[in-house]
Amino acid sequence: MFKRYFSLGRKILFSSLLLGAVVALLAGSVQMMIFHHKRAQQFDIIIHDLQKYLDNYFGELLNTVDKLQPLTMSRCSDVSSELTSRAAFSLNVRAFLLVENGHAKCSSATGEMNVPMKQLVPQVDVSKALDLTILPGTPMMPQRPAFALWVRSPLLENRGVFTSINASLMPWILYSSRQNQFSGIALIANGTAISTYSPKPQPASLLKDTPIRTAKINGLPLTVNVYGNTWASENTQFSLLMGVMCGLLSGLLCYYVLTVRLRPGKEITSAIKRNQFYVVYQPVVGAESMQIRGVEVLMRWKHPTAGEIPPDAFINFAEAQQLIVPLTRHLFELIAKDAPALQNLLPPGAKLGINIAPAHLMAESFKQDLRDLSSMLPANYFQLVLEITERDMLNQRQAVTLFEWLHHEGYEIAIDDFGTGHSALIYLQRYSFDYLKIDRGFVNAIGTETVTSPVLDAVLTLARKMSLVTVAEGVETQEQANWLRQHGVNFLQGYWISRPLTLEKLVEAHGKPENYFTTT
Ligand code: C2E
Ligand code: CA
Ligand code: CA
Repeated sequence: MFKRYFSLGRKILFSSLLLGAVVALLAGSVQMMIFHHKRAQQFDIIIHDLQKYLDNYFGELLNTVDKLQPLTMSRCSDVSSELTSRAAFSLNVRAFLLVENGHAKCSSATGEMNVPMKQLVPQVDVSKALDLTILPGTPMMPQRPAFALWVRSPLLENRGVFTSINASLMPWILYSSRQNQFSGIALIANGTAISTYSPKPQPASLLKDTPIRTAKINGLPLTVNVYGNTWASENTQFSLLMGVMCGLLSGLLCYYVLTVRLRPGKEITSAIKRNQFYVVYQPVVGAESMQIRGVEVLMRWKHPTAGEIPPDAFINFAEAQQLIVPLTRHLFELIAKDAPALQNLLPPGAKLGINIAPAHLMAESFKQDLRDLSSMLPANYFQLVLEITERDMLNQRQAVTLFEWLHHEGYEIAIDDFGTGHSALIYLQRYSFDYLKIDRGFVNAIGTETVTSPVLDAVLTLARKMSLVTVAEGVETQEQANWLRQHGVNFLQGYWISRPLTLEKLVEAHGKPENYFTTT
């Protein structure tokens, strides 16, 4: 597992880079989409407003023209003053002309006249019911473009009203056309356009761009076009910047969070806080009676992402990170919590084997931690057995005094994994142990043609001579159990008897004392 932690740096970097890139891409595209949407919305609003404005304007004008139609039947001198006042009160109207039989008879500007329409405005077709075109100018204002609107009388086909209207009529339009992303506006009637591109009317076919929005005006052959850039380069730049910033930020954040959360050591402390550690109990039985005499407490770590992490890995790791003391204190708390249930399950004097890491053994707080544990357990019920490995006893003098203290306080000591160290036999002479736990390497070898059985034989003889109680670990077969019994081993522990079990499973499997391991 901890190899994993060492390559973690690279993993974290890679994940952060990946996340950064993904976020950059996402943020950039989202920003672009927002820009695009906003622009589309703006164009929609502008074209809608323009259309509404022109619809209203021409609607009102057509209304006025309708009211003027009856005047075509009167003499000009009788109606010219009304005509003039109508023109004065109609916004942007240059002149109204009353037309009869193709001739302009009366003008709001100049009064009575008689000029053929073909001569006056050849672009307008008076045979149509309605016609609209754009003129470069009118006789009074030859330089200023104008709309020329012809509306035939609905009752008398030979009469009608002609209107000339300022084509620079909409300063409002010109204003909107200057909004940031708009490049221009064009009004097109009868194939002629006036636009913000050219001060003079020009053929609509000469308009270069394709409009970004276009709308028709109600009841008139008039189209309004809005031109604009679909995409502004500063939007791309901004989106890019946004993407890069978000990517960088999230990458850094990811890097920070991952390094802080997975920083060695932090994991263990936070796992304690989050209750990711739990304990399992492996029964230890008397070799003859096969009845449970105690349990060994083994710690487990259920990591939310890495799954079950084996104790060999995290114990060493916790030691290296100076976290074994808090970890063992946590273990003690877990045991204390289970103690009432264990008391129901195990006979009085049952042994609780607890593995003690060397770093904790030598820690100043060790004695107090042990006292705390004892005080949390039911009084005078369990016999605590501290399982210590050979490598823990390097500081000889310290170990000897500690063992004396432990014995004095009523704790028992087991030498764990016996036979895996180098100077195992010397240790037996030097220290006062209560139990010798034979490593499962020896037990495994029983029955195979190796030289280990004679060694085990010798160890057992020695243990007997020194009146040490022996526990065989890792008993997996009946054959091993038989051999161990025959050779006088006192206690057995291993999968053949029981796997380490959670308290719940232990209660389930061995709830009734008389049922203990009476299978043989
Ligand atoms: P250990 O003290 O030698 O514990 C016995 C180990 O052998 C346990 O492994 C147990 O599950 C396993 N085992 C039991 N019976 C059999 C069997 O029949 N066959 C085989 N192949 N294995 C068997 P586990 O629980 O993985 O623990 C590994 C080591 O981690 C322990 O070895 C012990 O040194 C350490 N450890 C476990 N819990 C703690 C703890 O709470 N504190 C400390 N300091 N160390 C612990
Ligand atoms: Ca052990
Ligand atoms: Ca062991």
